[in-house]
Amino acid sequence: MLELLLRRVGDVPSQALERAKRALKRELDFVNVYIDYKSLEPVLDAYDWERRQYVASKLLRLLGRVGDVITVYLADVDAYEDNLNFVFGLAMPNLGIAGVFLKRLRNEYYGWSPDEERFMQRVEKEVLHEVGHLLGLEHCLNPKCVMSFSNSIYDVDFKEARFCNMCKLKIYHRFSV
Ligand SMILES: [Zn+2]
Ligand SMILES: [Zn+2]
Repeated sequence: MLELLLRRVGDVPSQALERAKRALKRELDFVNVYIDYKSLEPVLDAYDWERRQYVASKLLRLLGRVGDVITVYLADVDAYEDNLNFVFGLAMPNLGIAGVFLKRLRNEYYGWSPDEERFMQRVEKEVLHEVGHLLGLEHCLNPKCVMSFSNSIYDVDFKEARFCNMCKLKIYHRFSV
């Protein structure tokens, strides 16, 4: 069994962690998922004051990994990376760390009325996506597959909270016992 720890940074509802855990258990039954409910502070050293966003890789590196357990952060921040204006999430497979950045997953960010269920579904999808990268998957051309690349919130909403058969095969080929 692969072990995976979910942690939160900032104001993240417990339900988001629990929904992420449930989605991971459903899609990847060989992964043992644990939740650390302690709320961590975002690390200001990773903040870009001009852009008013966190640098995704820097934040994840500073938050670090817990022992040798794969660690996935749900962070209530907006983040960018390299030449991208923003990222919904980032995976660093070499370090066994990934993060999902929640600011742009909420309806409120776009001036729409709050939709908690929609938000939870987006969290599930982005967590599955980043964990897919941690497990070695690349982006998938099937727009319904959770591994398809999302440029916008519309793309996130369009894809489903599951791996397509091709991606599933690739994962199980590497990890099933
Ligand atoms: Zn991706
Ligand atoms: Zn796929």
